[in-house]
Amino acid sequence: MFDGTGDSRVHLRTYYDKLVRVGNVERIRMKLFMRSLKEDALSWYISQDPKKWSSWVSMVSDFMDRFRFNIENAPDVFYIQNLKKKPTEMFREYATRWRSEAAKVRPALEEEQMNKFFVWAQDPQYYERLMMIESRKFFDNIKLGERIEESTKSGIVTNFEALQATNKDLQSGGVSMKRDSPPAHQNFPIPRPNFDRRPPKEYTTIAESIDQLYERLKVVSYVTPIPAETPENPSKWVNPNKSCAYHSNMKGHTIDECRSLKDKIQSLIDHKIIVAKNPL
Ligand SMILES: [Zn+2]
Repeated sequence: MFDGTGDSRVHLRTYYDKLVRVGNVERIRMKLFMRSLKEDALSWYISQDPKKWSSWVSMVSDFMDRFRFNIENAPDVFYIQNLKKKPTEMFREYATRWRSEAAKVRPALEEEQMNKFFVWAQDPQYYERLMMIESRKFFDNIKLGERIEESTKSGIVTNFEALQATNKDLQSGGVSMKRDSPPAHQNFPIPRPNFDRRPPKEYTTIAESIDQLYERLKVVSYVTPIPAETPENPSKWVNPNKSCAYHSNMKGHTIDECRSLKDKIQSLIDHKIIVAKNPL
């Protein structure tokens, strides 16, 4: 039985040999051929119109066209899972190359399997983010991959070894850290009444504006908007003309003035999860 994998030539030879005693009756040989197939090969056969085959040779030639790849060096699942992005390649080029290789795998992959193997093939900085999308088209991988590529290239560089080490430290220290949990001071039961009364903190100088950096960090989920805080005495300091995207568009201050966001970014820098490039 031939299931669509393995050597199609060997199958033909075996089939031929078995049917010697049927004699040279092409019609019978062609009819019985179906019974030697299963799975992919059988589905292929059923999807064909047998009337188009005027002879055994024409049928075999279609069969070989369809299953020849088993003889040639068809990439297998292992190969595509290890097909990495070249340093010189843009993510989109890489994903396109990967997909065309994956399309040659037999039996053919469902889109879902293809997405899974693609994610598995990725280096950590892509893997971690791509894994988060649950159902998608292959094109979504390209879009997200390009955004990650963009965010790692310009301004910030993610440092996953440091991230892993940090997580390990936290775990072994018995402290559990949920990713993107708000900084600890936001868990105080009483909301902080005034941002500006806290002593100024040393922040690492960042080459770009806070709101730009925020947008990029948001794409890779290093920051997510936190709930708006209700100040005890709003009238004293709230400027209704300003709002902060990080604080879920809470009115009162702009994102550039946002202490909570600066703290969050600083903690990412301190933990070496992101590396601030020196301003030029
Ligand atoms: Zn804010």
